[in-house]
Amino acid sequence: MAEIVILPGREKSLLRRHPWVFSGAVARVEGRARPGDTVEVVSAKGRWLGRGAFSPESNIRVRVWTFDPKEAVDAAFFRRRLAAALAARDLPGVPPAARRLVAAEADGLPGLIVDRYADFAVCQFLAAGVERYKAEIADALAELTGCAGIYERSDAEVRAKEGLTPLSGVLRGAEPPDLVEIEEGPARYLVDVRAGHKTGFYLDQRDNRRLVAAHAAGRRVLNCFAYTGGFGVAAALGGAREVVHLEASAAALDLARRNTALNQVEQVPTTYLEADAFAKLREMRDAGERFHLVVLDPPKFADSKASLERACRGYKDVNLLAARLLAPGGLLFTFSCSGLMEPDLFAKVVADAFLDAGRDALVLARLSQAADHPASASFPEGSYLKGLLLRVS
Ligand code: SAH
Repeated sequence: MAEIVILPGREKSLLRRHPWVFSGAVARVEGRARPGDTVEVVSAKGRWLGRGAFSPESNIRVRVWTFDPKEAVDAAFFRRRLAAALAARDLPGVPPAARRLVAAEADGLPGLIVDRYADFAVCQFLAAGVERYKAEIADALAELTGCAGIYERSDAEVRAKEGLTPLSGVLRGAEPPDLVEIEEGPARYLVDVRAGHKTGFYLDQRDNRRLVAAHAAGRRVLNCFAYTGGFGVAAALGGAREVVHLEASAAALDLARRNTALNQVEQVPTTYLEADAFAKLREMRDAGERFHLVVLDPPKFADSKASLERACRGYKDVNLLAARLLAPGGLLFTFSCSGLMEPDLFAKVVADAFLDAGRDALVLARLSQAADHPASASFPEGSYLKGLLLRVS
């Protein structure tokens, strides 16, 4: 096995069980290693630190599979890790057939995401290491989940950073139907596992959908960045007076319509606005529109440290516009799914937005991703979703 020798002093993060070795920490590669090969990571003084997947094109040069020198990386390894991941998902409030089964680093499987939607497991292989062991992983998933089909959605942009091309299709078993129906408490949602975002649905927002539902009764609700309508449907089921979905993608809005119909909430007046959120929110502000509950769940604005400043401006703008639309006593559920955006920075940006809007607000809750999307204590990057529930006076 090839050895990756790291620079003096750069072993600290590995000793703290952080699983990434950045390119800047590598002194040299001893032996021949191709993308996805399993390599040994050793310190400048020759101390064994871990065994991981080599990714020569990525800035994350090695992702560690194991910190145990006796643990081999083979089919049995993946079966063991997957079985442990699946077992760790039996948590209160996490539906059996609409949950994240594998959360990458949190489950000791860097680069692998698996979501279960009814009888289908939908996977993303996002790094060279998991790409190499795809067959072993697919076999073990088919056996351990008993799903009718294992489907791959490795068409995420991050694959390019690993030198991998986009891929999607059936890995094992049956082809999924065009839309897979899932249940989440009282709600039902249709998931487009072939063409939807990521694996098809934002399971990470489950607890927050529940919270929106709990606060929605009698309120006029704006679901901004609606995607397939998750928050709006939850609000309607929670007794909202009216729901307005705002979303740029026509395909997503179409599914929001179908999700509304599926949940039999026709008695709640519902509008679907296909528009750019920034422009539409401004228009609504100028028209003097008022909402009692606004959900802001924008896409990731920051995907690199360099884009963080621009991202802050984006979050500030959109939160400022939303703050102005809130009726007295109105609630704002505001989110950021950019892992690079620290919760405190996000809270500051939102506070600035309310100051600029001239509105006083109380933070009623700090929100995060659902428990089936855990982050390892030694890998804080895994906590990517943060949100605030605010009430304006
Ligand atoms: N809240 C959704 C997930 C939102 S993902 C849920 O819980 O399911 C972000 C969404 O914002 C995507 O559907 C994307 O199409 C949409 N979007 C991105 N940029 C936008 C813009 N400028 N205006 C309106 N929608 C936008």
